[in-house]
Amino acid sequence: MQTENILDTEFKKYKSSADFVAFKTIHEHTRDLSVRNGKPDDISSFDDQGLLIEIMRDGHIGYGATCEMTSDGIKSAFSKALQMTEASQKKSVHKFTDHIRPPSRGEFISARQKPLDQISTAEIYDFLKKTSQKLKSSDQIITAASDAMVIECDQRYLSSNGADFHQNFNIIVNSLSSTAQSGSETQTRSLHGGRGNCLQIGAEHFNLDVALRDCETISHEAIELLSAENCPTETCDLILAPDQMLLQIHESIGHPLELDRILGDERNFAGWSFVQPADFGKLQYGHPMMNVIFDPTVSNEMASFKFDEIGNPAEKKYLIQNGILKAGLGSLESQARSGLSGVANARSSSWNRAPIDRMANINLEGGDLTLEEMISKVSRGVIMFANRSWSIDDYRRKFQFGCEYGKLIENGKLTKTLKNPNYRSVTIPFWNSLAGLTKPNTVETYGSPYCGKGEPSQIIRVGHSSPYALFKNIEVFGG
Ligand SMILES: [Zn+2]
Repeated sequence: MQTENILDTEFKKYKSSADFVAFKTIHEHTRDLSVRNGKPDDISSFDDQGLLIEIMRDGHIGYGATCEMTSDGIKSAFSKALQMTEASQKKSVHKFTDHIRPPSRGEFISARQKPLDQISTAEIYDFLKKTSQKLKSSDQIITAASDAMVIECDQRYLSSNGADFHQNFNIIVNSLSSTAQSGSETQTRSLHGGRGNCLQIGAEHFNLDVALRDCETISHEAIELLSAENCPTETCDLILAPDQMLLQIHESIGHPLELDRILGDERNFAGWSFVQPADFGKLQYGHPMMNVIFDPTVSNEMASFKFDEIGNPAEKKYLIQNGILKAGLGSLESQARSGLSGVANARSSSWNRAPIDRMANINLEGGDLTLEEMISKVSRGVIMFANRSWSIDDYRRKFQFGCEYGKLIENGKLTKTLKNPNYRSVTIPFWNSLAGLTKPNTVETYGSPYCGKGEPSQIIRVGHSSPYALFKNIEVFGG
């Protein structure tokens, strides 16, 4: 019997067995390819498929999961979900109703021209081989790496209060990097930092002409960095390119605004947050030019969807508007517990994990400058590209980031290339030192497939877009 038929038949059997019952199936097919110096390093593919059962009894939620899509497998998972509701009644935090599970119906399909099941693994390998060969532009390049993760994910959700939706995602993570060496000096330059391009897109992404031009720039800049000066240690103006802003937004806006973190759920694992419930509607998070949105409705961004995994319809929402903190990253469950405004962000890493508060697409809106105008406003500063390293405390206050490539700015002009550019600051003063954003047409979209959180651990995909951003009086330093 087909999985779809089993799901419908078994759901009918169980849907009246608790106050609320939902069945969610996830089927994910992943192809993972790595090419090093023109030669295959890893070519693998795997399928992952299973069912999550969620039930509610007397206001308490229980979960059971199985990869055995049979009557026996589903019976066992349902029994585990029942046991969990009994256990949680003894340590009750909050009594929920099925109002936190909207009866949504519909379909979402990632925007794409050529679905990923229409490109062969041999074609992807050929693309990676050619880009890897191009990345190794000289003997000074000791490692030229081209990698791709190509993911097709299908999700279906049925609930006893009437939800019935289907979502189909096509996702590509594609990175390119050149590592150059001369004597004891080693430098790596990559396409937008180690994560590369992370998008919901079809096979049209694999455009060899565009990628080969990127490879030329990357390998040239890796060699250039070998003889570059170290980034100076001083307090000066700082311009961050969108491929560093993605991590800056992720770590110092995304994580601290997660409502479950603010409620303390994550304090033994991923950490807490400096943000307090009373800060919403009041805290001057950043300069008034700062507008940050939660927006899963954007086409092609890594974490776009129509419904979160409990059926809450996705909507664009301001988290920070004109610099003021407006809303947190909290699902309907966290909103009910905290009384705070939130978003459609209950998401899980797979069928064997319960959905929790996650980022999706968290985007910084553009401003009114061209990049040339922004640079011309700086008498002394550094521009930094592509995240290389990061560190931030458990409360998401103090941070330090390293980038791959920098340029000194003197009297409004880009001058020397700088290696090992780093900066450090504290979240609220940093965002309040924002002094300029480039125009909406300069906004670039990236993401990460590796956002970790939860206990047991969940690694999830997120998207971030940003313009170039100028910050005043920031501590920068070399490696
Ligand atoms: Zn993260």
